[in-house]
Amino acid sequence: MFAIAIDGPAGAGKSSAAKAVAQALGFVYVDTGALYRAVGLYLLRHGIGPGSEADVTAALPRITVDLGYREDGQHVFLCGEDVTGEIRTPEVSMAASACSAIPAVRAFLFSLQTGMAERYDVVMDGRDIGTVVLPNAQLKIFLTASPEARAERRCRELEARGTPVDYAETLADVIRRDRQDTERAAAPLRAAEDSVTVDSDPMTLDEVVETVLGLARERMGPHG
Ligand code: C5P
Repeated sequence: MFAIAIDGPAGAGKSSAAKAVAQALGFVYVDTGALYRAVGLYLLRHGIGPGSEADVTAALPRITVDLGYREDGQHVFLCGEDVTGEIRTPEVSMAASACSAIPAVRAFLFSLQTGMAERYDVVMDGRDIGTVVLPNAQLKIFLTASPEARAERRCRELEARGTPVDYAETLADVIRRDRQDTERAAAPLRAAEDSVTVDSDPMTLDEVVETVLGLARERMGPHG
């Protein structure tokens, strides 16, 4: 199996790039943020504080998270319910970020992620794919961009989904999530030593995709 890990902060364009790379190579795109979001949504629905380690850990046995694939891409299921559309709100983002700092949550979602990479060639995006989940990935990309560019991208995405948000608030959220994601003890966001850092600020999405595809093809060799 061939695995491409794409890690980086929120809003750097990981999912758009990963999706396009997966499509070009015929790989399965695995959006691991959606898994943490599904857990975050469960906690919000049940009034459980997403930062409360004891409460969240106690709730985990009642939670099931699964992935499915349709024509339109990845769907995520929470206790059997398709919640793909519900997990893209700012509230769920913050809940996902808070609960993802809890080691039991990371352990809970670990085998679902490694299992995908055992069965399929994958492009997997997240925060700790190259460092923790798939340390043997053949290609590791750390995709980054300035907080301002990332906040702008998030605003455009949410606007396109019909839920416009305030830029200043989004920028504050991006900075807060960066801090939560990089300063946590469990699997903090950082570039793997053997990753290639790509700064998407001066690049178009197509340029990012071409860069990743070029590296992937090099590593796959002539028979890839
Ligand atoms: O990538 P996305 O913004 O959907 O991720 C939501 C949150 O889930 C992130 O802020 C991060 O805290 C967490 N996450 C993580 N590890 C991953 C993917 C996401 O901790 N591999």
